[in-house]
Amino acid sequence: MQSQETLLKQDLQHVWPPYSAIQADTPIYPVKSADGVYITLMDGRVLIDGMSSWWSAIHGYNHPVLNQAIHTQLHDMAHIMFGGLTHQPAIDLALQLVKITPEPLQTVFFSDSGSVSVEVAMKMAIQYWHAKNQPNKKKLLTIRYGYHGDTFGAMSVSDPDNGMHSLFNDSLIKQLFADAPLCTFEQNCSAEDIAPLANKLKENHTQIAAVILEPIVQGAGGMRFYSPEYLQQVRELCKQYDVLLIIDEIATGFGRTGKLFACEHAKIAPDILCLGKALTGGYMTLAATLATQEIADTIRLGEPGLFMHGPTFMANPLACATALASLKLLLDSPWQTTVRNIEQMLRTGLQVCQQHSHVKEVRVLGAIGVIQLHQPIDLKALQPKFVDAGVWVRPFNKLIYLMPPFIISSAELNSLIDAVCKVVADIEP
Ligand SMILES: *Cc1c(COP(=O)(O)O)cnc(C)c1O
Repeated sequence: MQSQETLLKQDLQHVWPPYSAIQADTPIYPVKSADGVYITLMDGRVLIDGMSSWWSAIHGYNHPVLNQAIHTQLHDMAHIMFGGLTHQPAIDLALQLVKITPEPLQTVFFSDSGSVSVEVAMKMAIQYWHAKNQPNKKKLLTIRYGYHGDTFGAMSVSDPDNGMHSLFNDSLIKQLFADAPLCTFEQNCSAEDIAPLANKLKENHTQIAAVILEPIVQGAGGMRFYSPEYLQQVRELCKQYDVLLIIDEIATGFGRTGKLFACEHAKIAPDILCLGKALTGGYMTLAATLATQEIADTIRLGEPGLFMHGPTFMANPLACATALASLKLLLDSPWQTTVRNIEQMLRTGLQVCQQHSHVKEVRVLGAIGVIQLHQPIDLKALQPKFVDAGVWVRPFNKLIYLMPPFIISSAELNSLIDAVCKVVADIEP
């Protein structure tokens, strides 16, 4: 094996990191292995994982059941094209997803990443109205602070100003944005909260194919939690104005917020649902777009009678088999209790951060803990402090946030929380 120094040098020169640059000066750490909640760096240091590899590794790393699922599937086939061919892992996974998601969702389109599942959802909505002879309904309406991915369609419905994509604004399809609600998860939704979206719908519904939202938790656009009542009212408005509702559960799906799907907090069902991230337990990339029978039938019976999308690696058998095993692990476990316990510990443990003048707010929902500062974080300075403290946390902008694997023990979670609180205490205001 090459020395860490050589590897890092090669990495720096040739490999693009996400939301960064070649030869960027933010620190980067080669990983040797990962097991359970522990990440072992090449230099021998062991970190407790606070990120679940961006929401995905809910069962931790190197899980024997998931490893076995891949081995077993590998024996039959790693991949096969999905055009004209199908296979049991895809069918079983589709049936399982239909079973555990809200009742009206009956059909599943597999793709390879969350962003693509959002593109698919947007195309389905547009094709639906095209098939219904309402081709003017092709705009998307969403709220500010959203994040739906990095491809062009997904960027067009992500927050236009928060810095992640603003550079591309002139190249994007112009969508409609309403101010986001200010009501928190615990609060009711006031008339002022819903008015911006209601007004946009009222004025533009003849051009709107769908409203797209992250349910309850807005993730990468600001880690904001909003009232289930808001989501209920959006659902009603969409019905009233004949607009589809796309719910993006790519971050929130599979238990993270305390419900299997965050839309269950509001007891509503979308017309189209996007899933990804934790779908395979963080093992490999797979996403799914679910739609109602009515949408599927309308597209089939309309012109051209086909849905115009089909990725090369659609329904990859290894990924589908791993997703099935991951779902079984989750559903056979007492995940509600697990998430509630993590929530309780995050609430109690992160509270001490609230006392610092540079901390604006601490908020917790399910297995998500957020510390929002007044000023943007200096990632270059802060990242090594977390690593020195023995934890893997990846802040962005003004946010330090935790979403540990569900398998984290109380002792490990306490160590993670303690380390984070110490680093936060040391940040110079
Ligand atoms: C991460 C994320 C996406 C994009 O998923 P990728 O797999 O990174 O393409 C879309 N929507 C939400 C809510 C996400 O959190």
